[in-house]
Amino acid sequence: PVAQQIPEKTVDSVCPYCGVGCQLSYQVKDNTIISVEGRDGPANHQRLCVKGRYGFDYAQHPQRLRTPLIRRADAPKRSDMQMDPERIMDIFREATWDEALALAAGKLKSLRDTHGKASLAGFGSAKGSNEEAYLFQKLVRIGFGTNNVDHCTRLCHASSVAALLEGIGSGAVSNPVMDVDKAEVIIVIGANPTVNHPVGATWIKNAVKNGAKLIVCDPRRSDMARMAHRFLQFHPDTDVAMLNAMMHVIIEEDLLDHEFIKARTTGFEAIKENVKTYTPEAMAPICGIPAETLREVARLYATSKGSMILWGMGVSQHIHGTDNVRCLIALALMTGQIGKPGAGLHPLRGQNNVQGASDAGLIPMMFPDYQRVVTPGVTAKFELAWKLAPGTLDTKPGLTVVEVMHAIQHGDIRGMYIMGENPAMSDPDVNHARDSLSKLEHLVVQDIFFTETAYYADVILPASAFPEKTGSFTNTDRTVQLGRQAIDPPGDAKQDLWIIQQMGHGLGLDWNYQHVSEVFEEMRHTMPSIAGISWKRLENEGAVTYPCLHEEDMGQAVVFTENFPTADGRAKFVAADLIHAAEKPDSEYPMVLITGRQLEHWHTGSMTRRASVLDAIEPDPIASIHADDLAKLGGKPGDLITLESRRGQVSLYARVDNSSPRGAVFVPFCYYEAAINRLTNAALDPFGKIPEFKYCAIKIHLGGTP
Ligand code: SF4
Repeated sequence: PVAQQIPEKTVDSVCPYCGVGCQLSYQVKDNTIISVEGRDGPANHQRLCVKGRYGFDYAQHPQRLRTPLIRRADAPKRSDMQMDPERIMDIFREATWDEALALAAGKLKSLRDTHGKASLAGFGSAKGSNEEAYLFQKLVRIGFGTNNVDHCTRLCHASSVAALLEGIGSGAVSNPVMDVDKAEVIIVIGANPTVNHPVGATWIKNAVKNGAKLIVCDPRRSDMARMAHRFLQFHPDTDVAMLNAMMHVIIEEDLLDHEFIKARTTGFEAIKENVKTYTPEAMAPICGIPAETLREVARLYATSKGSMILWGMGVSQHIHGTDNVRCLIALALMTGQIGKPGAGLHPLRGQNNVQGASDAGLIPMMFPDYQRVVTPGVTAKFELAWKLAPGTLDTKPGLTVVEVMHAIQHGDIRGMYIMGENPAMSDPDVNHARDSLSKLEHLVVQDIFFTETAYYADVILPASAFPEKTGSFTNTDRTVQLGRQAIDPPGDAKQDLWIIQQMGHGLGLDWNYQHVSEVFEEMRHTMPSIAGISWKRLENEGAVTYPCLHEEDMGQAVVFTENFPTADGRAKFVAADLIHAAEKPDSEYPMVLITGRQLEHWHTGSMTRRASVLDAIEPDPIASIHADDLAKLGGKPGDLITLESRRGQVSLYARVDNSSPRGAVFVPFCYYEAAINRLTNAALDPFGKIPEFKYCAIKIHLGGTP
């Protein structure tokens, strides 16, 4: 029997993983987390999923970076090498913080001064706090002097944000997940919440038990489809055909909310004209859903007292991702299913702080609070707030994640600072991304592990894990919550905020933030949406939802109740036509690859694959394939199979999973030994600049090298 450990202290914090933002408490003994319990937070009511409850010991993993590292002069940077943690010291040598920071910032400064401000770029992190995101983008905009700053929002919901800002003036959700308990109809499209937002999924399941009708639309049969009133397994890449057909029905059968359309929207006539030819009968063969089902779902959605739409990356990660979301917005607007409890739009945000990092300005075309760099007066406003001389800030939008990788190849970007992101795993066509990273003249990586990206670094700065620091985090519901420090960083690792500030000093900035609260207080004075959230409120209340305009404002969970945050207060219909994926299957590459996540592993796996319980449950790289497709190859479950696209190949173990449609294979992107992004296509949505992770052409054969 194992003796139960008695904790020395309990520290209240939030989960470091997905965007649901469950509140939890860490039980700590001897500077070690020994267990985790759920707290009564607004998004979780004490519930936690397997990641939140058991995924905490990555912080104590022996592979944690403990001291700054500098690349040895003779160590090669080769794009084709696999990461080998055992060989780190062949490639890097230990350094003091003074030496590492002097080299890290000094070389960036000299590149800036020699080749110009636009020769530098920075990627921040959706895993860091709001304050880290804010300070990082401020460093890039002032210290580098460019707007070349981005983060993984570009890889997940950039297209959703583009469509939402264009259509309704706000890139965030209109209602919290929990609002599904007030809805009569819930559409979940292109999302697998049971896996990716597990506690959020429990609220949807509860709503179904209480009588709500769930419509699941997905090319893959997710677990949630079992509870669905209707499951629409549409053909991959045909979202617009299916959604336009539903709109056609709503208009044809006059299920419109005329009053809402007249009082609160513009552009309806154009969309009415656009969907005329998208009859359910014409679209059924394209999307694979019978016309009568399309009609039934359209009627259900339009006529219920409250309908919510929740979506994920199955919608957004296409070259037509923005168009997909434009259709979802149009559905809500023409039926008035927005702006009231139980009716609205909810893009399920992936990482624990991707909402907050975007809000804080970690995006190349906008300052904090989505204030566009090109809008007259915005740079002047931030120059005043940041005590800069007029004309200091760049007025040109910067480059996005994938654009930066191309710019390196062209010699336009020469130096980078990457904090907590792992583009050598997460970017599309990752062989190309790795080749780009290997061509940088200077790369500074700040992280807690020797990630695949760190392999290409010139300087590695050891940072703090989530439970080792205090900061605020904003979940998918727009709720700002406090994560509190429970343990100390190992060895000589430092807090990220301290490191960013030191980098700032090296770039000539005279910053002197003494505490994380000072950064947050500065943020709220430049971001009207959180103006009413003081650090003290966060400490006292633990969670405050924005918009929160003044300190007496309780925050607004449901927005757009009276108007939209657009210039004229109205939402705008934007029509979308069916366009197809950039790369369709053909005789040489006859199958489709769909990438995504799995329950036990989070994103590129740098944390969860070092969490002992989670890695024990899902230890090996797998490809989910329909039994018929595997049988056609002559294989059986557990066999090695090799997937190949025009850009690369990987070998992994076949798992029979008939939730994948015939002709399509699903692979999680968390396995470094089978980095599936070697295969994905870097084609971009023209509006959100998001890559098409959810669709590319591949071929498969039995066998391969694990
Ligand atoms: Fe953490 Fe998300 Fe699981 Fe909640 S649902 S415990 S936030 S991973």
